[in-house]
Amino acid sequence: MRTVNFEPLTRAERMYLPEILRGLGTTLRHLFTKPNFAVQYPEEKRPPVPGFHGEHYLKKDAEGRPKCVACFLCSTICPARCIHIEAGPSPYPDRDKVPVKFEIHMLVCIYCGLCEEACPCDAIALSPRHFTVVDNRQDAIRGLDRLLADCPEPPGGTFRIPGHRTRNELMNEGPTADLARRAGA
Ligand code: SF4
Ligand code: SF4
Repeated sequence: MRTVNFEPLTRAERMYLPEILRGLGTTLRHLFTKPNFAVQYPEEKRPPVPGFHGEHYLKKDAEGRPKCVACFLCSTICPARCIHIEAGPSPYPDRDKVPVKFEIHMLVCIYCGLCEEACPCDAIALSPRHFTVVDNRQDAIRGLDRLLADCPEPPGGTFRIPGHRTRNELMNEGPTADLARRAGA
């Protein structure tokens, strides 16, 4: 067991002022000698770490059509129940349904990424973009048009924002690769 013996305060320490000045001196010394790690958010943003879960987007296929086939798997698995989908008849011959309404409530979402994992069509993904600040709750509900417009990929492309890997890709790499990356190896 470690015992700490407190020395009785000297007269100067009991006056407090010299100690306050000494503390301010330490602050000033660090101000000019230590590097500044502060990020001036929101003007500056840290680059997202690989696998960061940010705002969602919906992908398009090579013909520019939404990849989503309105199967409801993402909304079924969503633990926060924040995905609302309404399906309609498909104008395309290769699928039965398309989403006519696809909404995600970004304030309710917990950014777990399960929707991305569950999707059988690789139609929904979480980007590395932080949630955009809104000034009313209604704007936090992202609809089909916005989710499709937010897609950073060209139609039919794969996700190629530098440094970003989807949750599935990270899991395929295995825990060893993930630990090595976190350690900076
Ligand atoms: S990230 Fe998780 S909580 Fe958010 S919509 Fe997807 S499944 Fe739901
Ligand atoms: S995004 Fe994927 S999982 Fe969700 S309804 Fe569309 S196809 Fe199904």
